[in-house]
Amino acid sequence: METRGLSPERGRLWIIPSSIAHSAMNLPAAPQATGPLVLVVEDEPGIATILSAYLQRDGLRAQQAHDGLEALRLFRQLKPDMVLLDIHLPGMDGLDLLRAIREDGNTPVIMVTALADDVDKLLGLRLGADDYVVKPFSPPEVVARVRAVLRRTQAQPAAPARGTQRIRVGRIEIDQEAHAAFAHGEDGRPVALPLTLTEYRLLACLAAQPRRCFSRSHLIDHCLPESDALDRVIDSHLSKLRRKLQQAGQGDLIETVRGIGYRLWPGDGAPV
Ligand code: CA
Repeated sequence: METRGLSPERGRLWIIPSSIAHSAMNLPAAPQATGPLVLVVEDEPGIATILSAYLQRDGLRAQQAHDGLEALRLFRQLKPDMVLLDIHLPGMDGLDLLRAIREDGNTPVIMVTALADDVDKLLGLRLGADDYVVKPFSPPEVVARVRAVLRRTQAQPAAPARGTQRIRVGRIEIDQEAHAAFAHGEDGRPVALPLTLTEYRLLACLAAQPRRCFSRSHLIDHCLPESDALDRVIDSHLSKLRRKLQQAGQGDLIETVRGIGYRLWPGDGAPV
């Protein structure tokens, strides 16, 4: 026996092997209701149920939403610790929902898609998803990705200056306690930078040791641990971070050091 679903997008059929579906259905209910809450946004009930069961077996709490509007309502109401977000949804698609979630803050989001093409689109749009998985997937792999992203989001920022809660480099200020970064304008007024968690971590890592050159592999180890991220993933996050710093009037603070990696260079004479 297999659990099947017909995706509305391009009529694609996905199949979860009976061994996985069967074991998921027989999983015990969540033993504790205190783990991080994952909002599972998935319009195919079979997939939503299986994912929720696997998440719960791993000690996480799961709440299902079956269309985009219900998902947005539950996101705002429940303030989940993470969102597992199918791209193709009725009501409001996953990309619009991701935009709405990003307007609200940096809640980690793993995108789920049946189409490999969507991954390029996602990377191209630079909407700030923390990771993505492509169907057909194995539920244990999805749980491992969820755990990895949660570890990143719940860990301390990389290489903070010892004993300090705030780092100030030039006109950038990082509040490590609040996991927030600010840009001070010409008038000295701080404006919060709308960074994803990964972008925040990269900025905190670079700013902890200004003018030091960090290799891509160092940045992956410290800002995307437990990830098998490739160099181009770091490049993509840094390019988004750069753009946000520029949009905040901070110019080209992050330098690419050819053949080595990146560094934060606040400019000669700037306070460090
Ligand atoms: Ca779907």
